[in-house]
Amino acid sequence: PLLDGQVVDDHRITVCVRKRPLSRKELNRKEIDVISVPRKDMLMVHEPRNKVDLTKFLENHKFRFDYAFNDTCDNAMVYKYTAKPLVKTIFEGGMATCFAYGQTGSGKTHTMGGEFNGKVQDCKNGIYAMAAKDVFVTLNGPRYRSLNLVVSASFFEIYSGKVFDLLADKQKLRVLEDGKQQVQIVGLTEKVVDSVEEVLKLIQHGNAARTSGQTSANSNSSRSHAVFQIVLRPMGSSKIHGKFSFIDLAGNERGVDTSSADRQTRMEGAEINKSLLALKECIRALGKQSSHLPFRVSKLTQVLRDSFIGEKSKTCMIAMISPGLSSCEHTLNTLRYADRVK
Ligand code: ADP
Ligand code: MG
Repeated sequence: PLLDGQVVDDHRITVCVRKRPLSRKELNRKEIDVISVPRKDMLMVHEPRNKVDLTKFLENHKFRFDYAFNDTCDNAMVYKYTAKPLVKTIFEGGMATCFAYGQTGSGKTHTMGGEFNGKVQDCKNGIYAMAAKDVFVTLNGPRYRSLNLVVSASFFEIYSGKVFDLLADKQKLRVLEDGKQQVQIVGLTEKVVDSVEEVLKLIQHGNAARTSGQTSANSNSSRSHAVFQIVLRPMGSSKIHGKFSFIDLAGNERGVDTSSADRQTRMEGAEINKSLLALKECIRALGKQSSHLPFRVSKLTQVLRDSFIGEKSKTCMIAMISPGLSSCEHTLNTLRYADRVK
């Protein structure tokens, strides 16, 4: 094994679900937990038909995934079975992606960016940082040292079909596609990094840029996709050896805002809906070299195009679940989407 504790995984697509615990607020208002994880690859939703008497008329929805993480699992555990096995992929010249999918408040940013201690986010235990750490361990390990690879990182946001650089004051960037369908984000900040500490600084910077000037309840961050990327290049070359993209997706419940009275909200909702549907199609077709994929339908799939093609590309999706009864409908939507990705 390449990394200590690494799971052997030959599959191109891994789909997992993660249930978060009920929050203190939810416990205070006596929110009912309708999710159970009876096995490590199974998750169930116990939807009460009759919402008055919860002891009766339960409709059980059963879903199977590669892994189902209970609310007792921490980020390190989730990381171990999702993104960690894909670190090897980028050293072997492939592209890797890890998506956090789910409704707003289900734990996407907590999983990817790190746990919240009170108001601040501890980015050290997020998937971005844990993966970055393993990238440096592998880079300096015996197997790939001779490749002389240089690591760089970028962090951007896709909001309403436009790309903004989170490492450059949210500067708006253009996306260009050349004749060979190579996609480029013009002017995207790509910082060369030599240590995990440097990566942590970038993550902190990007996270702060992402949430600045927002109220948490109705924030832009729930309507945008955040993309953090780690790129490997041979020293002195501009050619990409491997790339790992981590995507904290927009809240999937925003995709149904298409009937909102507010035009802006409606347009944003339609855009999110479109990008999540295109994403599903692109993941499903991963590695199949199909020319009919809807890459161009959304900015998200367009900028990730090179990660969906090629023999060595791999992806994992973590579908985040809120446990409460009041989230039941969104939870079922999330599970049905995740179910169809593979
Ligand atoms: P999202 O990014 O999907 O909108 P967040 O990651 O911001 O959701 O999570 C919403 C809240 O729930 C945050 O306060 C976060 O700390 C908390 N939370 C999410 N997942 C967990 C978890 N697995 N354990 C404990 N708290 C969590
Ligand atoms: Mg979030």
